[in-house]
Amino acid sequence: TTSVFEDVKAAPADVIFALTTICDADTFDKKINLGVGAYRTEEGKPYVLPVVKKADHILVDDKNLDHEYLPILGQKAFRKESAKLILGASSKALAEDRVGAIQCISGTGALYAGAHFLSKHYPIKGAACYISTPTYANHRPLLEGVGLPVLEYPYWNPATKGLDLEGMLNAMQSAANGSIFLLHACAHNPTGVDPTPDQWRQIADVMEAKSHFTFFDCAYQGFASGNLDKDAYAVRYFVERGLELFVAQSYSKNFGLYSERAGNLTVVAKTPEIKDRIESQIAKAQRAVISNPPAYGSRIVSTVLTDKKLYSEWEQNLSTMANRIIHMRKVLFDELTRLETPGKWSHIVDQIGMFSFTGLTTPQVKVLKEKYHIYLLDNGRISVAGLNSKNVMYFAQAVDDVVRNH
Ligand code: PLP
Repeated sequence: TTSVFEDVKAAPADVIFALTTICDADTFDKKINLGVGAYRTEEGKPYVLPVVKKADHILVDDKNLDHEYLPILGQKAFRKESAKLILGASSKALAEDRVGAIQCISGTGALYAGAHFLSKHYPIKGAACYISTPTYANHRPLLEGVGLPVLEYPYWNPATKGLDLEGMLNAMQSAANGSIFLLHACAHNPTGVDPTPDQWRQIADVMEAKSHFTFFDCAYQGFASGNLDKDAYAVRYFVERGLELFVAQSYSKNFGLYSERAGNLTVVAKTPEIKDRIESQIAKAQRAVISNPPAYGSRIVSTVLTDKKLYSEWEQNLSTMANRIIHMRKVLFDELTRLETPGKWSHIVDQIGMFSFTGLTTPQVKVLKEKYHIYLLDNGRISVAGLNSKNVMYFAQAVDDVVRNH
């Protein structure tokens, strides 16, 4: 008997998840997983935020909670607090009631909801969505999946191991008026390089002059610098300038809620009426795809965001994570300096957020994997969170070897 699916070809495995599978199966005692973008403690273990544990207990004891459907747009307090978190409590756009919020399946779902809406309702037919080179591996397939044409803008300058501002601005200038630009709000993935406030001003100038539409991806608020306001700078600045925009927010990293899929799409429109219409269209689309979002993660988040004491505990948990990563960057940098590893390594401490774009080449990465059992992306990206005081010296020595000899 033949199957109706006889001709279906196998799809390639996801590179990052595949790396974890290989690392998990590796029995070498000094192996290191620097691939997965998830926070690890000093013991190399996943971290349940203490404030999340507290919120958990509150929810378990809450006799009023049930398992009814959430509304299609999600939980009200969660949506409201999410918009406030990214825009700031004193945001003019919030006061003017022109901010919409849609609870989504984490950051990916928020990107999807925004991109899907743009594919249906963006006024310029065939407008391209520009993504940075390089960018988060899921951006292109997600955007192409909803039928948006995808083009790229330069971002990383390999010579300086920093931002290619000129290339980025030139691409924005030469893009057709009214193009869509997907920008990383903070802690750019994979490079760890963000524009400075002055560079954001220059970017906003061109975005405004060219009537481009801004879609921010914000997966690391508070996780990058340890400060929620600082990490929201770019979004708030664009809103202050009166620009309409979308922000896809994820609570995976900053709450450690990777598997709960808590996220939000914040929509800043010109008027309350337009905001309402956009929300209604996204609600209609959301109904057909997920019907309504999951409750648990959003309850944890809103429990923390609506309680002053829990909120400040969350801020402490955030700085614990951010500071450990910042410290690991410094230890790695110091060790490479001590070993006199050829090359300049200051980008390790200059880059922010979870990742470092090390500049290691694909052949060097191959040796790290095969000889040292150290797993990282072929483009040289490491998750700094995978380093701790017990394995960082082993990593530095391995890097020193591959840089000198491969
Ligand atoms: N956007 C960026 C830049 C990311 O790095 C990630 C996760 O790694 C996401 C979005 C999606 O995150 P989530 O797990 O919340 O869907």
